[in-house]
Amino acid sequence: MGRALRVSAPALLRCLSTSTAFKANKATAPYSNPQDLWFPNTSKSATGEVRWGDEKLSVRLGDGEWATPVPHLWLRDSCACAHCVDPDSGQKNFSTTDLPDVPTLESAEVTPDGSLQLVWANDAPSGGAAHTTVYAAQEVEDLLHTRWQRGRVAERDDAIPWNRSMYEGLLAEGRCRVSYKDWIAGGAEFWAALIDLRQTGLIFVTDVPSDETEVERIATRIGPLMHTFYGWTWDVRSKPQAENVAYTSKFLGLHQDLMYHDPVPGLQLLHCLHNSCEGGESLFSHGVRAAYEMKLDQPDAYDTLRKTRAWFGYHKGEHHYIAARPTIMTSADAHPRETRWAPPFQITFPPHHRGARMLDWKRAATAFQTIVEAERNMVEVKLKPGECVIFENRRVLHGRRQFAAGGGGERWLKGTYVSQQNYIAAATRLAEYMRAGGMEQRADRTGWKVEDIVRKSMQQQLREADMEWSKPQRQGTNKAE
Ligand SMILES: [Zn+2]
Repeated sequence: MGRALRVSAPALLRCLSTSTAFKANKATAPYSNPQDLWFPNTSKSATGEVRWGDEKLSVRLGDGEWATPVPHLWLRDSCACAHCVDPDSGQKNFSTTDLPDVPTLESAEVTPDGSLQLVWANDAPSGGAAHTTVYAAQEVEDLLHTRWQRGRVAERDDAIPWNRSMYEGLLAEGRCRVSYKDWIAGGAEFWAALIDLRQTGLIFVTDVPSDETEVERIATRIGPLMHTFYGWTWDVRSKPQAENVAYTSKFLGLHQDLMYHDPVPGLQLLHCLHNSCEGGESLFSHGVRAAYEMKLDQPDAYDTLRKTRAWFGYHKGEHHYIAARPTIMTSADAHPRETRWAPPFQITFPPHHRGARMLDWKRAATAFQTIVEAERNMVEVKLKPGECVIFENRRVLHGRRQFAAGGGGERWLKGTYVSQQNYIAAATRLAEYMRAGGMEQRADRTGWKVEDIVRKSMQQQLREADMEWSKPQRQGTNKAE
């Protein structure tokens, strides 16, 4: 009925020139009509140009690129004026369902300051009156990017898929380390460290006071602590009758924490208070890098780990957790994004996976483990008292070498988690900080570019391994002669 009531000149023209079958189709599939790209209305000013039809609008600034046409419904729904969004609570004052399928756009123009001003006729949320929506100049600029959404959190597109030599190179450049004082002060050094954390998933805070409450102060610089049944913070130290394998002095293979928990913690922090035992070096390996290596080298095994879920569980006392997760999780553009690896917390495979599925997974998982545990990929650090490591639990695996408990030595780490959502919120503050300071993103790497970095470093590794292998080989031959 709404459409019939507002037959504009272009719509009338269309009615005259198209069949009824076409109109019926149009009612069920809006925006699919190529004629929607016919924009009879235009407005041009010194700062920009707008053109629009019955359903969509496009805009450009100056004589730049035209934005991909945006439906009127989206433009009206996204109005952020004080009538539409409560300035105090930030809540929307109308519902998307209050709007007609196609709000009526009366006029549109780019104003002298570069913002886009839209006037809606017969506006439902305004009781039938006219309504004005303004998109600020920066938002018009953003509209040109089809992926833009107001309030959207920072994208991750600048990851460094490190192996050992790449990470050691970063450390040598002075990256991935920040003093406690600078971290707590929250200035430029804090933001630089946060960029390093976002890019590598592994940083170290140094010169931390020897107090078991400090890990909380360090974590809350990013966001609130994540509570689990281990408490707000927890201790990792050798003790009798350990209910968790991390509390003993045995070798602890590379793994990720709380794979049986929902949600999986985003960040883990470990503050070293004492570490005078022999051994006990911390090990880190980039799970997503290993996934990329598999994608390039062993695509079938990679597919198996992407498609098959392993089961994790924890059942002690009143705590009962169970979750099934694929070893490799991929993004919408089919690139590895996160991993889920924790052999000590795996439970039995489900009955229908007992056969070929389990064997396939076992073989592929063995290949994954071989890659993450390779010396070329593992970073080994003996944490010193006063150091706090922060790492992305969803992407970076951690483990620990065996240490000699007792014998006068003491080993005590204080740990906590921050949820992924709070970590991403900090990354969004980082993006805002960089934008406000005119700071450029250091790198804009899509999955393909990250894959390329992995490919090149794998070739480098191969060359180095080749040289290593050929050295003793030649010597051996010489000796025999
Ligand atoms: Zn409004």
